[in-house]
Parts: sequence; C-alpha cells; structure tokens
Amino acid sequence: MDRNLQIDARVQETCFHGRHINPQIFAGLTSADDWSIEKYEARGGYQALRRILLGADGKPPMTPEEVIAEVKASGLRGRGGAGFPTGLKWSFMPRQFPGQKYLVCNSDEGEPGTFKDRDILRYNPHIVIEGMTIAAYAMGISAGYNYIHGEIFRVYERFQEALAQARAAGYMGERILGTDFSFNLNAHHGFGAYICGEETALLESLEGKKGQPRFKPPFPASFGLYGKPTTINNTETFSAVPWIIRNGGQAFLEAGKPNNGGTKIFSIGGDVERPGNYEIPLGTPFAKLLELAGGVRYGRKLKMVIPGGSSAPVIPGHMMMDLTMDYDAIAKAGSMLGSGAVIVMDETRCPVRSLERLSYFYAHESCGQCTPCREGTGWLYRLVHRLEHGQGRPEDIDELDRVAGNIQGRTICALGDAAAMPVRGFIKHYRDEFVHHVEHKTCLVPTSL
Ligand code: SF4
Repeated sequence: MDRNLQIDARVQETCFHGRHINPQIFAGLTSADDWSIEKYEARGGYQALRRILLGADGKPPMTPEEVIAEVKASGLRGRGGAGFPTGLKWSFMPRQFPGQKYLVCNSDEGEPGTFKDRDILRYNPHIVIEGMTIAAYAMGISAGYNYIHGEIFRVYERFQEALAQARAAGYMGERILGTDFSFNLNAHHGFGAYICGEETALLESLEGKKGQPRFKPPFPASFGLYGKPTTINNTETFSAVPWIIRNGGQAFLEAGKPNNGGTKIFSIGGDVERPGNYEIPLGTPFAKLLELAGGVRYGRKLKMVIPGGSSAPVIPGHMMMDLTMDYDAIAKAGSMLGSGAVIVMDETRCPVRSLERLSYFYAHESCGQCTPCREGTGWLYRLVHRLEHGQGRPEDIDELDRVAGNIQGRTICALGDAAAMPVRGFIKHYRDEFVHHVEHKTCLVPTSL
C-alpha cells in the first residue's frame, strides 16, 4: 500500500475511536468528513464568535475585557507544554499599542510522542479558527498566523481550505459578521525543525530567518513578530476557547479539577493496544487512560511511562498507576504533563536504549547557538551510546548526570533542559540497569518475552 495511505489509515484511527470522556474539542466528530464548515456549524460551531460579536439568547455582545475575564475564570492553561494560564497571557497584550499587533498559533508540533494538534487541524480546523478569532477580538489584534509543522503538509493544506471556507462565510477577514471587527488569519508551514516549536524560534522562522531562539527578555508580548507585540498560544489552547465562551469559564473549570480546568487531549503511544488521541478531563486517573487505550500490549507488564512528551522525565509504571493526569499531580511526581504525549513502555524496554534514542534526537535538533546545549547534547549521546553498546565505564553514569546538570538551566531556550531532564530521570529510577550495562555489557531486561 502507498505509504501516505498507510499513514492516513493509522491517523484516521487516532481520534475516531469514540473512547473520549466528556470531550470538548473532539465532541461530535465521527468521521474524517466532519471537518467542513457546514458540519462544524451543525455541531454548534461559530456560535461562540456570534455570541461575543452580536450577542445571543437575550445577552448583549461581550466586550474584549469580558472575554478575557471569562478565559481567566476558566483556569485554561497553555496546552503546548508550559501550562501557563491563558487568560493571564492574554492580559499581557498591550491593547492600546498604536501599531500592528500579532496573534500566532503554534502548530509546530514536533515533540516525539505528540500527535494531537495535527488531528485537531485536520479533522476540526474551524475550532482553531474560531478560537483564534475570539482571541484576536479580546486582544484587539487584526492579523494572525498559524505556523504548522512542515512534516504534516496535508494538514497545512486542509487548514488552508478551512480558512477559505471561513472567509467566504464571513467569520474571518474584514468586518466579521458585519461588525467593525476585522481579523486576517494566514497559514504558514515550517520545514520540520523541532526547534521551531520554541516560540521565539518560530517567530524568527515566520519572519523568513533561520529558526533560532531569541534571548528573553524581551518577551513576545512586547517584542514579538517583526518586533511588534505578539501573543502565541498552542493549537489545542485556542481550540478550548469556543467551548469556554459557549458554556462559561466556571463550567470549564469544573470539567477538570482545581487549578487544572477542562479536558486535555493525550496522545498515548508506545506499548499499548490502541495508540491514539484520547480527550479526557484533567485529573482523570492514568489507569483509566491506559484502560481506554486497551492496556499494555500483549498482556505484558507496565514498566515505565514518559507522561508529557520526550522531554518529560520518566516515571516508573507502579508510580504512574497511582497518579492522575493533570499538571500538578505529574509535577509532584517529579515529571511534567508537557504536551500530553504519553509514551508507555512495557517490561521488555531497556531504559539505556530508550535514553540513547532520545539523546540522539536532542543532539540532532540542537540549533547550536549556545555551548552547553551544542556540545553537551552530543556529549550525552556519546556517553549513552557507549553504555548501550557495552563499552561503558563505571564512572560514565555519574558523568552523564554531571553533564546533564551542567546543561540544565544554562541555555538560551528550553531544549537544553529537554535534553538533560530525561537523562536525570532515567538514572534516578533505573541506575541498576545502567550499572548492569557496565558490568555485563548488555541489557537487564528479559529477552525471551
Ligand atoms: Fe539552540 Fe540549544 Fe541553545 Fe536552544 S538551548 S538556543 S536549541 S543551542
């Protein structure tokens, strides 16, 4: 079968399995044809935009301040990885700034294990357009870009189609729905560099330059795209906004758990029976998420889980089974919820081998701007590679930890931390397996399963 068709078949299964719990973003999606504007309107789409611009149900239009207050009340936290409160971020935008301001959607989804934004954009693109248009209204912005990862070009094309539909229907462009509010949104695709998912590297790339992170401060809210005030949010974050406006911030807050409002899409992959995207309320037990995904593949035992994308420190399986899937619970266990990519590994997986793969990725994706990251990521990879291939020395394990410690917190952007944190997590929980590699030149894991 053609490779693209094979990928399509797999992708289509990742969010149409009907195993979400109280979904807000995937609600009503039953097939790959549900992306069109007619289908989106039929399931309540663009009602939130009408509500704020025209008023509805006897309620007057909402002011920009009221929209921001509603988002603040929802407790929505950025879904791209950092978990920063969205309403607070929106309030940083200097509304009265006299010149151009920009709104940017970060759809440069490249974190290994994460595949949620591509499904949102491909199967529910109008929810992103509606969320961004509401955000633009709230912050007084008239121009926006959606920067889409370069390796999902067909998703970019789908988003372009959706933009044309929204423009034709009067939901985007000049004088939206006959009001004085105008917002022009454009799609832009990158070329697959992981670092362009870092917000300032994304802005550089959007400006046509090499995608390298900027020093911060200044932050994008004051010096963003083309040096103008800019607000950047993740695809899933914007997608949560229409539901909040339609149902109220309080309802969103109550859909999750305190300080962790709403639902979250988890991309669960690795050794599970049914890998895919599962939208569930924040605070749902990990055990329930694993059950939705069909459990550990082949009836094997759960060994370890990376709970928030490849940069999140690993958590042993027995600890994970007692945790809930929310920002605070995962942070308390020493890791992070990150982008919501849950990588499940069974008893046949070797932590040294897994770390070797991750370290190679970060060494390859370092932009090279700062020395600790450029030199340190390569050093990490060479040390783990040596251990994995039976040439490790006893002192290499502490050396790995030391190099990771010298990278962490000493770089321009978070890629340095992203490379260092998995190293420290694997050594902390699985030191005995690293030692086994040194002493026996091979893995500790059973090979006969
Ligand atoms: Fe580039 Fe790495 Fe420095 Fe980030 S931490 S700016 S990726 S060299």
